[in-house]
Amino acid sequence: MKALDRLREGMRRDRVFDFMMPKVVFSPELDTRHGPILYLEGVTVSFDGFKALDDLTLYIDDGELRCIIGPNGAGKTTMMDVITGKTRPDSGSVYFGQRIDLLRLSETEIAQGGIGRKFQKPTVFEQHTVFENLELALAGPKGVWATLFARLTPEQRDRIDEVLEIIGLQDQVHRPAGVLSHGQKQWLEIGMLLMQSPRLLLVDEPVAGMTAQETERTAELLTSLAGRHSIVVVEHDMEFVRTIARKVTVLHEGRVLAEGSMDEVQSDPRVVEVYLGE
Ligand code: ADP
Ligand code: MG
Repeated sequence: MKALDRLREGMRRDRVFDFMMPKVVFSPELDTRHGPILYLEGVTVSFDGFKALDDLTLYIDDGELRCIIGPNGAGKTTMMDVITGKTRPDSGSVYFGQRIDLLRLSETEIAQGGIGRKFQKPTVFEQHTVFENLELALAGPKGVWATLFARLTPEQRDRIDEVLEIIGLQDQVHRPAGVLSHGQKQWLEIGMLLMQSPRLLLVDEPVAGMTAQETERTAELLTSLAGRHSIVVVEHDMEFVRTIARKVTVLHEGRVLAEGSMDEVQSDPRVVEVYLGE
């Protein structure tokens, strides 16, 4: 009986999941029943003998909002490159859920399969309106042409409205993205990633160059996404990290130096030495 219930629950979840993620290629396989949605184990990346990641082991739980901090050169961006398939490690394993081996998938497959990445610089289509940007994002990493000529389904329209509300750009919907403020462009790009309903969202330095008000709004935005999505945020702005952080991981020389609440890591003498005492 228990087993049957579990099966039913699984099927129910998959249906919700399908509705939220129309594009997911391997959603039925994504297995987070043990907690983590991302497993990095013993990951090493060398550039000409220099280890950018050195036997890095790190787990991200399904639905969590994790902040990653660490001095320049600690390996934060390299870690994101490995997760998204841009860089292949020399050794180690990288799993999305329990069963999906990310090292066997291409960058495009990973992006289509539910891992979205936000780079530092916003890359919106400046001459297109906010609405059109979200519409184009429906296509994902491939198939922009198909989207341009296809009519939106009611579900897709609803999803655009939903995302507009999440990113707070309802009032800007018909303005060209090029006239938005820096912060608004960043939110739009997060919205474009959300159109793909990623299970895991990687965000590199989201508040760099933002005003205090935009930073505050971004904190609210990312916090509101946690739970429905798992989010990994790399950020230098410690004030910002303190606002949003539950669990913080400190990277140093390609490995985890400390992990815990902001208070725990900030009072860790090793962290003070390599990072906060700079
Ligand atoms: P972070 O994002 O934490 O500042 P990075 O991941 O960008 O750190 O870099 C980690 C280290 O790896 C740095 O010393 C950097 O110079 C080096 N590195 C990163 N990418 C390359 C590359 N493509 N070729 C050579 N060295 C690299
Ligand atoms: Mg970096």
